[in-house]
Amino acid sequence: MNTGRMRELGEKRSVIRELFEYGNKRKAEIGPENVFDFSIGNPSVPAPKEFSDELCRMLSEESPLALHSYTSAPGDLSARKSIADDLNERFGTSFGPENLYMTCGAAASLTISLSAVVGDGEEVILFAPFFPEYTVFVETAGGKPVTVPCRWPDFQIDFEKLSEVLNEKTAAVIINSPNNPSGAVFSEDSIKKLSSILSEAEEKFGRKIYLISDEPYRELVYGEIKVPFVTKYYNDTIICYSWSKSLSLPGERIGYILVSPENPDWKEVYSGICGAGRALGFVCAPSLFQHMIPKCIKMTSDISVYKKNRDLLYGALSDLGFEAVHPDGAFYLFVKSPEPDAKAFSEKAKKHELLIVPSDDFGMEGFVRISYCVSTEQIERSLPAFKKLAEEYSL
Ligand code: PLP
Repeated sequence: MNTGRMRELGEKRSVIRELFEYGNKRKAEIGPENVFDFSIGNPSVPAPKEFSDELCRMLSEESPLALHSYTSAPGDLSARKSIADDLNERFGTSFGPENLYMTCGAAASLTISLSAVVGDGEEVILFAPFFPEYTVFVETAGGKPVTVPCRWPDFQIDFEKLSEVLNEKTAAVIINSPNNPSGAVFSEDSIKKLSSILSEAEEKFGRKIYLISDEPYRELVYGEIKVPFVTKYYNDTIICYSWSKSLSLPGERIGYILVSPENPDWKEVYSGICGAGRALGFVCAPSLFQHMIPKCIKMTSDISVYKKNRDLLYGALSDLGFEAVHPDGAFYLFVKSPEPDAKAFSEKAKKHELLIVPSDDFGMEGFVRISYCVSTEQIERSLPAFKKLAEEYSL
């Protein structure tokens, strides 16, 4: 392990965290109602009441020893069985508990999966814009991140650019749809084409190329939009899921890894996942929330609030002359900076107490991310500030 790099990671806060901390300081100075904080992706809708009711019931009626004990390392059998049954019912698949490994959220799912399938010095393709922690996770697993920008303005995959970077060292490709920070959802056509390009590359380079699908926002899509279920298109798929966003449980650290049984080598991959979880010291996912999974497998938070926020913010900013990706999912709006330097744009926004994140750390320049997982009222109150910002740029 590179100890200097670890120190550097510990000392340097992410741009998102910097802005969030600045927001807290500013709120103390001028009052929280006067700061329009769109910096962070913390769900603004609570977990449903049935979830809290069931959690309270379990805590008061079931054996504390059983609820808080270690589970087996891959996870409690009934939690994994209920996930497999739910996926099979929704997507017509045939998974069993043996394909699932319970984790401490999507971040853990990703670090474990990358450690399991990426060899030292091998490459991992990331489609920009991407969740900034990907580069940290890939590098810590010994891999090298390779960035492929998505197409403007629909933010689907640029297949020409993808084909240019695939080579004998490519071990994995990470996709994240619905996407943080763009809100874009990869269409079925995109997933089909991606699958066929990766299959050809596997053939050409005589090696496995894993498609790691990071899906904490899978349930957060609006209107008629459907998120294609990736194992149906590509055999060498590993899914990284969490309930951080869909059930508003980011602090509880609960998620899973699914290794597709369509991959003839899935058992070896699954062993690698178990080994990586062990080597990284995860022991097991939080027991209490594993025991909740069979009870809440059909629940989501009330995502209608996010849709309302999306419609309000996208409509208002478009009317003001800002250009943005139409977000079909997640809870982020990705807006083109009216000047090439997004950091300068974000600084100007700060003068109007608008906290919006420049896109550079998402692997793409020239945009800002606005997290609309806030109260609808905050968005309404922020619109005069966005208007002043638009006027400053004569939009
Ligand atoms: N992947 C993406 C794209 C995210 O946006 C996040 C969190 O914001 C994560 C992974 C990490 O999620 P978790 O809280 O489940 O670890």
